[in-house]
Amino acid sequence: MFSFDNSYARLPDTFFSRMDVSGPNSPTLIKFNETLALELGLNVGNSTDQDLAALFSGSVKPEGADPLAMAYAGHQFGNFVPQLGDGRAVLLGEVIDRSDQRRDIQLKGAGETFYSRGGDGRAALGPVLREYCVSEAMYALGIPSTRALAAVLTGEPVYREQTLPGAVVTRVASSHIRVGTFQFFAARQDADALRQLSDYVIQRHYPEVADTPQPYLNLLKAIIDRQAYLVARWMQVGFIHGVMNTDNMSVAGETIDFGPCAFMDQYDPTTVYSAIDSGGRYAYQNQPGIAQWNLARLAEALLPILADDIDEAVALANPVVVGFAPAYQAYWLDGFRQKLGLMTERDDDRSLIEQGLQAMFDDQADFTLSFRALSAGSSAFAAFTSERPALTEWAALYQARLALEPEIDLVRREKMESVNPVYIPRNHRIEQAIQAALGGDLSLFHKLVDVLAHPYEAQTEYADYQAPPRTDERVLQTFCGT
Ligand code: AMP
Ligand code: MG
Repeated sequence: MFSFDNSYARLPDTFFSRMDVSGPNSPTLIKFNETLALELGLNVGNSTDQDLAALFSGSVKPEGADPLAMAYAGHQFGNFVPQLGDGRAVLLGEVIDRSDQRRDIQLKGAGETFYSRGGDGRAALGPVLREYCVSEAMYALGIPSTRALAAVLTGEPVYREQTLPGAVVTRVASSHIRVGTFQFFAARQDADALRQLSDYVIQRHYPEVADTPQPYLNLLKAIIDRQAYLVARWMQVGFIHGVMNTDNMSVAGETIDFGPCAFMDQYDPTTVYSAIDSGGRYAYQNQPGIAQWNLARLAEALLPILADDIDEAVALANPVVVGFAPAYQAYWLDGFRQKLGLMTERDDDRSLIEQGLQAMFDDQADFTLSFRALSAGSSAFAAFTSERPALTEWAALYQARLALEPEIDLVRREKMESVNPVYIPRNHRIEQAIQAALGGDLSLFHKLVDVLAHPYEAQTEYADYQAPPRTDERVLQTFCGT
């Protein structure tokens, strides 16, 4: 089915630990992502659901696979752990997709690995469904993300606080190399491995820096730029990653690891959902600062290969890390200008956007619905703000700003609707889908995946899915699912 070409497996054996997959005896297929399979050029042929379940649970090792668990380290909530690694994930191998991009195929939840550190290497159904829904939703929103190729029930229990059904999600990523992968070798003072890893990442993700005078410094710059863009995109849809540890930050610039992540309903920059994030380290408003902090850790890891002299290396890396802030600010402004339908640039646009967000906060308005109402034109927005005094006041400023735009209403609306989603994976909907699935009913999960595949198109039959939670539907906490 796969035409594997496993380049990571050809790196030195300090980079990973090879392993056998041993899946469950009678797995059943929950979902197979046929569109993604086509994109990957997989030859599904006449595989039955049973065949697919066997393949995407690790019961059958596909031909050409060279399964391995990747080594990495990471800062978890600010504390450095020199060895983490794939404790519940196994990389089957890489395929070259139809657009000539190399993609990793990884099973998550298929059992213990060398890096399991006492964990069972398994995943419960809930987190698997969450990752499937949210990663695919991110993709459909146009935000760089890992993807979900399949979800399978193992038919075996996993033991958490409760006994839960076990499941496996097949994750597809541009690669699974993380900031923590660099930290792994830096912690071992292995400069050769750092060079090998950097060369590999350059070749795979940033070939444009290969022939520059300072390839490793330019690699750092390029990674920082992609992260600045990524986090700005998160902020523009109200996404809260929840566990932005350095081992959960991909150097390819994709959203990765959907543990306790959630989308904010009502706009409040201090929002935190993750139950383990009691200090609010990874709150919505802290995400850009944390991203920069993580990237400073990446810069530190790279120091030994940036220059022979440490002071010189620091002098080179510092301005690059500092450069995250202006890059992020520019992406933030650009994205919010688009959300407001501003195609020209004026000096006080930032302050107009900030005032709009403040008004949303004051009125306790829903982030997604507010922007979508704004996209529907001035009378629709007036209806939306009728009982929202701060937004009503702000609308006058906004109208005055629109008067300076050359574009006519209709063109603007169309553009705005293509960047302001109707549907986001609202937390209460995910929770409902998970609860139903735990009771054996997967229909809500399937429906949610379908709705979220077209987030910018109003779908009359799914009007309910736009709505924020009723008070009794609110989900205030999310869990890692480990
Ligand atoms: P995460 O918080 O999901 O990013 O995971 C942090 C680390 O814990 C990674 O090294 C994971 O591989 C590992 N881990 C998470 N869940 C499990 C599990 N059920 N069994 C073994 N290792 C796990
Ligand atoms: Mg992780």
